[in-house]
Amino acid sequence: MNKIKLLQEKLDKECPGFLASAKDDCVVLSGESEDYSKIVEAGKIAAETGYFYGVINKITLKGWTPKPMKRSPIEDKTLEGATPDILVIGGGIIGCSILRELSRYQLSCLLVEKEEDLAMGASSRNDGCVHVGIDLHKNSAKLKYLLRSRAIYPQLCADLDVPYREDGQSVAFKSLTLKGIAAPYLRAKARANHVPGGVKILSREQMLKIEPHLAEGIKWCAYLPGGACVSPYELTIALGESAVLNGAKVSFNTIVESMEVKDHKIVSVKTNRGTLYPKVVINAAGVYSDVVADMAEDQFFTIHPRKGTDSIMDKAMTSALSKTAITVYPKLGEEKRTHSKGGGLIPTIDKNILVGPDAIEIPDREDYTTSKASIDVIYGKHVNTIAALSERDIITYFSGTRAATYEEDFVVQKGKWTKNIIHAAGIQSPGVTAAPAIGQDIALWASQMLKAPKKEHFIEKRKGVVKTRFLDDKERNALIKKNPAYGHIVCRCEEISEGEIIDAIHSIIPPTTVDGIKRRVRAGMGRCQGGFCQPSVVALLAKEGQQDILKIKKKGEGNLFFAETKECK
Ligand SMILES: Cc1cc2nc3c(=O)[nH]c(=O)nc-3n(C[C@H](O)[C@H](O)[C@H](O)COP(=O)(O)OP(=O)(O)OC[C@H]3O[C@@H](n4cnc5c(N)ncnc54)[C@H](O)[C@@H]3O)c2cc1C
Repeated sequence: MNKIKLLQEKLDKECPGFLASAKDDCVVLSGESEDYSKIVEAGKIAAETGYFYGVINKITLKGWTPKPMKRSPIEDKTLEGATPDILVIGGGIIGCSILRELSRYQLSCLLVEKEEDLAMGASSRNDGCVHVGIDLHKNSAKLKYLLRSRAIYPQLCADLDVPYREDGQSVAFKSLTLKGIAAPYLRAKARANHVPGGVKILSREQMLKIEPHLAEGIKWCAYLPGGACVSPYELTIALGESAVLNGAKVSFNTIVESMEVKDHKIVSVKTNRGTLYPKVVINAAGVYSDVVADMAEDQFFTIHPRKGTDSIMDKAMTSALSKTAITVYPKLGEEKRTHSKGGGLIPTIDKNILVGPDAIEIPDREDYTTSKASIDVIYGKHVNTIAALSERDIITYFSGTRAATYEEDFVVQKGKWTKNIIHAAGIQSPGVTAAPAIGQDIALWASQMLKAPKKEHFIEKRKGVVKTRFLDDKERNALIKKNPAYGHIVCRCEEISEGEIIDAIHSIIPPTTVDGIKRRVRAGMGRCQGGFCQPSVVALLAKEGQQDILKIKKKGEGNLFFAETKECK
């Protein structure tokens, strides 16, 4: 019996009402459902058969109109007729990592991002863990890129002046009975997956030496000393800046709307800022990567967005969880069901504790709302790992959407049907971890396609904005003497000076919004969440960035600080 027929039988039995048909060696699912979970289930059933190259899920949700892609209202012709060698779509950590690697070659490269800054999608909405890959499938692209990237990370962060720390991660177990099976399994898995730093099975007493506030119920831990952390948005911006320093170009508020494809080749790319004629297109569009693939007539995978919500705790809680990211072993089957690591208590590089994330399948790709239900679930699940955490120390929440495919693996490859596209799609967790090696491979393939040699001189190092809070008194005084703005603290919670904000405004990829400043120097990230410093940041953006103060936004469209309320005569 052919594979489509076999799948159809399976669907009819387990998830009826949908139709499977073939497109080459891929399967297309069609139909309509009132229940979104059924649409996701059908896609998973198709992928789990292992029969197909990819699953193209076109089943629609009855009565639901997909929200249009969030976009800038700008319509102009600034890019009309541009002919870059390479066009990268998407300014997240993957697009920026690719752009930096591309800038090593003699190529003209342009990255377009639909938002007003880099790291506006999943790359600023995640936990910043640089994972070790113990949970990954042995032959997955996720593991392959994670392992190669782990070797790159320390030097890359040093070159880009981005903080990186290996503080370890651990999985906490409440059941001693489980130890007999779980401990040898984890040791074997760590060996098989070449987990950086391996795994150590620690008794409660041993773990208490690392985490003194471990809650009563925790009996033992699997400790992964190689677990690390990074600021994902700081790294994304640093990668972008390094690329620009090496000649690449970035265009914000630029949305790819459609493509013209002739004889399996992209001829032109239409954006809201004009039509471009690139030789090679790179798809790093995150949750929209299947939509971009479809524009290029090369869709052989489908993204089903999986939302995750985190709470951020005040730095006052740093002492409660001294070092490692810690997660309680999930209930049996949970990890498999949600394809998520189950979240945990995660210290960030800047010493806040994140609580979360959860994993919820949603139809809307850019639904970044946070709900009390999610926050209660994640807090209830993780708070009991460490004594002394208090809900009162949560300072804010965020959510992000993971770009999951039904195959639950990264799609890092040249086009299947279209010759001049390369996909970096379906990059869900551990995408932050895996970004450096993905960037290397894709840049190499693109350079080979265009037979482009490497440049003679590549500027490896990029210097970030000085962080006065980490300087000793002597260094700080010397800096203030040179420029008194470094002595004027604007953000009191995070100790950020006016000098740092001004440096950020004049950096190589200048931020134009208050949140852009926040992602670069942390002004507004503390307990008061900008309550005190926001007016000063707005004023500095206006003065230094030469913007009309009335037009300054917190982020994106419709987030103005000032607006007329009534006409004065
Ligand atoms: C809650 C959560 C926690 C996570 N935790 C971790 C973690 O701890 N460690 C880890 O390794 N990974 C983690 N991840 C995964 C990680 O965040 C992602 O894998 C990574 O950020 C993906 O980067 P990206 O560049 O592919 O996507 P994005 O950052 O989403 O970038 C894609 C960009 O493309 C732009 N774009 C889309 N369509 C268009 C278009 N038509 N035209 C122009 N621009 C377009 C978007 O605006 C967006 O900025 C987490 C993810 C989530 C959601």
